[in-house]
Amino acid sequence: MEVRPFNDISYERFLNEDKLMGSRCRKCGSLSVPPRSICTKCYQSEMEWVAIKGKGKLVAFTSIAIGPPFMIREGYDRKRPYVSGVIELEEGVKVVARIEGVDASKPETIRIGTPLQMEFLHRGEGADATTFLAFRPA
Ligand SMILES: [Zn+2]
Repeated sequence: MEVRPFNDISYERFLNEDKLMGSRCRKCGSLSVPPRSICTKCYQSEMEWVAIKGKGKLVAFTSIAIGPPFMIREGYDRKRPYVSGVIELEEGVKVVARIEGVDASKPETIRIGTPLQMEFLHRGEGADATTFLAFRPA
């Protein structure tokens, strides 16, 4: 496999390939998602890529009615909110991502602890292509 630096650009490239990748410190084993070039625990810089399996559970969420411009362009607004959540992965780290397949207009129906499976939302084309990480109930 080609060597990619442990940074956001590599992280985004992997997302475009439907892969969620983190960095693991070879010294202490600490895992970071998104990847970091320096370990946040022991400050060493010997990292390796780790493929995240994509299973986790919902530990926190918020229903957002007024999102950033790219979410407004997707048609989300006060009448059609979306959910952003914190997912604790099986690997033990937490990531923030969109939560699909839940009713954002009825946040009281969304349960903390719900098992989730990741998916990749591809938007735009060519140079504008981006991939958003999302999770939905498994
Ligand atoms: Zn470390």
